[in-house]
Amino acid sequence: MRILVISDIHANLTALEAVLQDSGPVDATWCLGDLVGYGPDPNLVIEYLRDLANLTCILGNHDAAIVRRMDFDAFNGDARISLTWAESVLTADSLDFLRTLPRQADMNGVVTLAHGSPRDPTWEYVLNTFTARLNFKHFQTPFCFIGHTHIQSLFTLDGASDRVSAAMTRVGEAVPLVPRVIANPGSVGQPRDRDPRAAYAIFDSHQNTWEARRVPYDIAQVQQRIRQANLPARHALRLEEGW
Ligand code: ZN
Repeated sequence: MRILVISDIHANLTALEAVLQDSGPVDATWCLGDLVGYGPDPNLVIEYLRDLANLTCILGNHDAAIVRRMDFDAFNGDARISLTWAESVLTADSLDFLRTLPRQADMNGVVTLAHGSPRDPTWEYVLNTFTARLNFKHFQTPFCFIGHTHIQSLFTLDGASDRVSAAMTRVGEAVPLVPRVIANPGSVGQPRDRDPRAAYAIFDSHQNTWEARRVPYDIAQVQQRIRQANLPARHALRLEEGW
């Protein structure tokens, strides 16, 4: 199966559309959470995602806050403003969809899906080999796919030496996943690695390969909608700079 792996869309419909077009036909879509927060299109993103065939979607920390499974106080001021705004515009249908999302998913005993980390699914950031290493104990499958950091990354545990290494994934290159691996497709709607293009990955479950991908989208259009909604200006600025 050719599987589209996306995360951290953050209410950015233009970026999501670009990713769905760029990915080409897929057999399934796995979404690792944070559908809302920061961006101007929370309802449209949820409607768009909900209609995808073979979608598996889990809960992100922003989604959890909106459905009151996490406190708004846990977020910084600007993120909180966006959450309060999203709460005021989300439809009952959108909220119902967010309420159905699980914190974690096991895909046929092969891949564990979690937003932040398998150890702390809606909160922990896996940014380095140290944190990655601690997390390998917290899932049983060969692979675990996470989001939350908004940075494409790939951590591999070598069972023999008990060492974890971080691989630099080159965009557009399908690399073999050798058990065990923690992989992050990056963020669709708010990349934070100074590359403003939307990020995602393709997982081939027959070949066990992972391909990190990027696609440009019309950032100015999204910035305009952020300003129209009176959302914090820095949420618009960061999109063009990728932070
Ligand atoms: Zn996020």
